[in-house]
Amino acid sequence: METPVLPVLAFVLSGAALSGCAPDVSLSDEMRGSVARLSLHDSGQGSQTYAYSEQAEGFYSDGRLTDPDVFPLEGEGFLKIFRPRDRGWTTRGLLEVITGAAAEIFRAYPDGERLQIGDVSAHAGGPLPEHASHQNGLDVDLAYYRMNRQEQAPELTSGFAEQFVGKGGRVSRNFDLERNHALVRALVATGRINRIFVDAALKKAFCEFSRAGGNLERDEEALRRLRPWPKHGDHLHVRILCPPNSVKCLAQDEPPPGAGCEL
Ligand SMILES: [Zn+2]
Repeated sequence: METPVLPVLAFVLSGAALSGCAPDVSLSDEMRGSVARLSLHDSGQGSQTYAYSEQAEGFYSDGRLTDPDVFPLEGEGFLKIFRPRDRGWTTRGLLEVITGAAAEIFRAYPDGERLQIGDVSAHAGGPLPEHASHQNGLDVDLAYYRMNRQEQAPELTSGFAEQFVGKGGRVSRNFDLERNHALVRALVATGRINRIFVDAALKKAFCEFSRAGGNLERDEEALRRLRPWPKHGDHLHVRILCPPNSVKCLAQDEPPPGAGCEL
């Protein structure tokens, strides 16, 4: 299996995969990511309990998706938005992680609005306009939960309806910190999350929420995977690890140790 690795890596490392938007971004760009190690994802253990046919191939920012699943338009505690874009294609692993967490939050907070699922991937994966990654069915954008519990019209394609971070990093009162914090914890508890990107002001808010509850130590793993990143004041971006059965999936390096709350 070593033969196909080298051309893929050569392509990634050459920077050719980074053409398009934001041309000055280097491979240290955490959103695009850098390949963890010079080998294919280890598909050894776990593949028997994860026997789906769909495949995430390549890297988050330079990949493909074969035989994909698709997000339903709605289910327990979630709904798909941006529907006309036809970007709901996904791996089964991502589908399970997101719908499982959505249902868990909905059961805990039954009066809340549903989790709103934005862009995932194109049918065959590959470059997705306006996104640096989302190329192999492992990345998804989600609307934050709101205090006013409003859902946006699922047919609109004009983007996420609400910005929660104002000037000077002020977090909007409509940002439902408790539910969003619970969502992050539920996602990371699956053990299948690589990273979750949020605005730096929101990462700080999550840290303060954990600290105020005396839960900084308990939440360290969730906070570690929560990465501050620009342009994520209106949505969070969830990225799962390579599924065990996706033998051509290239892993991203792990986030640094610690909660990262010293902002
Ligand atoms: Zn995204």
